[in-house]
Amino acid sequence: MEFHFLCTACGKCCFGWLPLTLKDALTHAGRFPLAVIWTPVKPASKAYDITAKLGLATRTLNKKRLAVRIAPTAYIPPSLPCPALNADNLCEIHSDKPSRCRTMPFSPYREESDQRELLVPRPGWACATSPEAPVVYRDKTPVDRDDFDRECRDLIAQAPILRTYGEWLLATVPGMIENLGRAAAKPRGGHMAVSFASLLRRLGDVDKPAIAEAQLAVLGEFASKVADQPALAEYSRNYSAWAWEMERLTRR
Ligand code: SF4
Repeated sequence: MEFHFLCTACGKCCFGWLPLTLKDALTHAGRFPLAVIWTPVKPASKAYDITAKLGLATRTLNKKRLAVRIAPTAYIPPSLPCPALNADNLCEIHSDKPSRCRTMPFSPYREESDQRELLVPRPGWACATSPEAPVVYRDKTPVDRDDFDRECRDLIAQAPILRTYGEWLLATVPGMIENLGRAAAKPRGGHMAVSFASLLRRLGDVDKPAIAEAQLAVLGEFASKVADQPALAEYSRNYSAWAWEMERLTRR
């Protein structure tokens, strides 16, 4: 079976959260306000095994199994565009854009055979899916798979780093397991947003002060963008709190 898809560069998918590989997060630390998004996935989900492979597996306080996706993420409110989206709805960093943008609409956080529903444009998106559009998915396999394979490789390579970080945070921060259990219990699934500083602190061969300085500026810029928007109060609180943490990492 074949599925057709063509991006029409409407720009609609360039709003809101953008999961990044760790490499992309560090490369674009001067552009995106970064967070680490924790997403619990239950055993009944088709994405359970791949989530556990790329993140970690744990148990809630009442011993229920959970896989957890731990994704460095451009933490942007759904109402705001990506800072790299220009007025013509084109990407200003096209040749250097993150893996996630190259691989869209496919997602390596799902099994390769489970991508079909991602090829249905979301309401408001103008992607072409008629028979005139190129075939991108055939017999449950992406047709042009270079970008997909590259993102999968990067996620597999970084998994041990994120797992070690995640297990450390679960063991040391009170309330993490309870909050994950609460997020998992939400009918449509939930998330936890954690500071990128908590991960940056744990990375080995990285110029932490330089990354922290870049983030400090971006977090300040986004705090100004959401100031006076009551609907974005949580973003405002997080940007300010995370800037405070980043400021401590700027010290050499
Ligand atoms: S980096 Fe470019 S393609 Fe990716 S979300 Fe931003 S504007 Fe869109």
